[in-house]
Amino acid sequence: MTAKLNFLSTLTGCFSAGAAENPTVAVVEAAFKHHGLDARYINCEVPPSLLGDAVKGARAMGWVGFNCSLPHKVAVIEHLDGLGESAGIMGAVNCAVRRGDKFIGENTDGKGFLKSLMEVVDPRGKRVVMFGAGGAARAIGVELALAGAAEITVVNRSRARGAPLVELISRRTATKATLVVWDRTYPVPDRTEIVVNATSIGLFPDVDGRLDIATDTLRPGMVVADVIANPPRTLLIREAAARGCTVIDGLGMLINQGVIGIKYWTGIDADPSVMRKKLAEIFGA
Ligand code: NDP
Repeated sequence: MTAKLNFLSTLTGCFSAGAAENPTVAVVEAAFKHHGLDARYINCEVPPSLLGDAVKGARAMGWVGFNCSLPHKVAVIEHLDGLGESAGIMGAVNCAVRRGDKFIGENTDGKGFLKSLMEVVDPRGKRVVMFGAGGAARAIGVELALAGAAEITVVNRSRARGAPLVELISRRTATKATLVVWDRTYPVPDRTEIVVNATSIGLFPDVDGRLDIATDTLRPGMVVADVIANPPRTLLIREAAARGCTVIDGLGMLINQGVIGIKYWTGIDADPSVMRKKLAEIFGA
């Protein structure tokens, strides 16, 4: 007997402005291919004025969901039917998931980070120092708090961005959050267990960018994680590794966002090594 033929693929994709620079399509499609999924990820350049039309199009065409990247992470919310817990707290969505006939907004930035951290340490009850208070820091701070971190010290250059993040974590979660305005060399407190760079320092082409911290306060036993994926071996990662810390690069966060998105859209647990290999090819790492 001949199997029933099917020429209709599962559709996902991404809406952003600056889509040509976003490698996610290559990474996600490498996983689709590896797992034999008849699914496509369509990377779309969408200007802010047409975001609503793009979401309507995805609904009309039966997409199972989509990523959205800059500058749509906040604006997309009004076009969705609901929000997951952490996306609701952050007020930002980078992954929409079709559940029944609804598109629900999730945020996989922080979840991708958390998944990579959990491979090394569970943040429950831990004391965290996090540099930065932008979009990535907001996502990571909220997920760490929901995962039960005891304390998060947000170290940020501007009070204007640092204070609202600390206020958000304190008001919406059980985690104690404190702000340190980063206006001098910061010594990482002795009792810190997890250190996170969630700033853009070190991102290509600023490859020798240095966080203004007292490097000799990084100690063996601390876990040091960097969000920067390009290059993966940032100066912070190299110096922390040399001082005996356990290090986590930004590639894991990026790959795990793909893994989580694919799980949401197709139910498949994608193999992260296939995606890491593809990213390494792209970044020449
Ligand atoms: P934002 O622009 O929202 O925030 C940038 C943050 O970095 C702010 O807190 C800013 O401080 C701080 N910062 C920038 N330059 C300096 C400096 N010279 N000294 C001190 N602080 C500085 O960016 P995002 O949060 O969206 O992204 C941050 C980084 O995270 C990006 O480089 C991106 O590559 C990376 N990222 C990685 C992901 C991954 O999957 N690996 C996913 C998402 C992001 P201030 O408030 O004072 O301006």
